Amino acid sequence: MKKREFIKFGSLLAGAVITGNSVSCINESMEKSNRINKKAKSMTLKYKPYELQLKHVFTLASGSRTTTPVVLTEIEYDSIIGYGEASMPPYLGESHETVLKFLSRVRMEQFNDPFLMEDILSYIDNISPGNYAAKASVDIALHDLVGKLIGKPWFRLWGLDPAKTPYTSFTIGIDTPEVVKQKVAEAEPYKVLKVKLGLGNDKEMIETIRTVSDKPICVDVNQGWKDRNYALDMALWLKDKDVVFIEQPMPKNLTDDIAWLTQNSPLPVIADEAVQTINDVLNLKGIYSGINIKLMKCGGMDAAYKMAQMARAIGMKVMIGCMTETSCAISAAAQLSPLAHWADLDGNLLISNDCYDGMIISDGKVTLNERPGIGIVEIKK
Ligand code: MG
Repeated sequence: MKKREFIKFGSLLAGAVITGNSVSCINESMEKSNRINKKAKSMTLKYKPYELQLKHVFTLASGSRTTTPVVLTEIEYDSIIGYGEASMPPYLGESHETVLKFLSRVRMEQFNDPFLMEDILSYIDNISPGNYAAKASVDIALHDLVGKLIGKPWFRLWGLDPAKTPYTSFTIGIDTPEVVKQKVAEAEPYKVLKVKLGLGNDKEMIETIRTVSDKPICVDVNQGWKDRNYALDMALWLKDKDVVFIEQPMPKNLTDDIAWLTQNSPLPVIADEAVQTINDVLNLKGIYSGINIKLMKCGGMDAAYKMAQMARAIGMKVMIGCMTETSCAISAAAQLSPLAHWADLDGNLLISNDCYDGMIISDGKVTLNERPGIGIVEIKK
């Protein structure tokens, strides 16, 4: 502080001391009016179940389905609404019932300052263990609300460059060669294909695609390979087929086999089912080359951002993925996609009843808009 400024500051302090009574009067009335304002501006949480209709029967190594249950949330504060979503693919153990039960326990009206995000999210996290999709639905709505109050999208608040968003892959489920070819044709706007493997027709799936497309392919085995020698043979074969990486090749509990595969594989090996929250990231160093972060697994944008930063700090690759979701959760995930080496944000494209407009894929690339919060507007419900 320069000498002149110091003197000025000193005389202001002296003034405050001299007129101590009036200062305390002003403070009192300000506190009172803040209390009234804050009381009037508490947050309210609303939620409703919704059923996503899938355009195609979706088959993974773990089963098939045509719908995905989600819960849509809204947090309102000072007449501004933040939107959130929980998506519950059945294999993760959450459902309409569990999410609605969790959300019924949330007392959002006790908070009157949405900017205290750490406190609010810590309260949400402590309501009960697990329930990560339910927690994500509150986290996303809170991020959307706070971004709207500030007037900026989250990628801006995080200081991320929208030009650095990755290409997104388009997912092709396990199916007959005819349907696979049809899906490859549908994936025409995308630069990268993500192919589900692990049901015994691995080579047929890849060879079918290679008869109609030479785009880079990412493969997701969903823990379907049980033998590490088979997994390594496949990794070598896939390398020759212009495959970029292999996601969750073997059951997540076969840690030693996966570490051996990662050491010997010419392709990066990415953890998906093996990684859930920030607590898992450090333990996976040396076992996998990278992690697939999904908002519904880790509890939302706050946790996902911290996981991405931690993974990058310890030299692991970052992939940002999704479930079948509306453009709400997809656009929320897209906010941190400039931190990701690869994105798999096509969940909204696999459904026929999206109710938000948000992030778009332009020329195969995740493309962020400048709308505040998570960058969405409601289109229909
Ligand atoms: Mg996966």
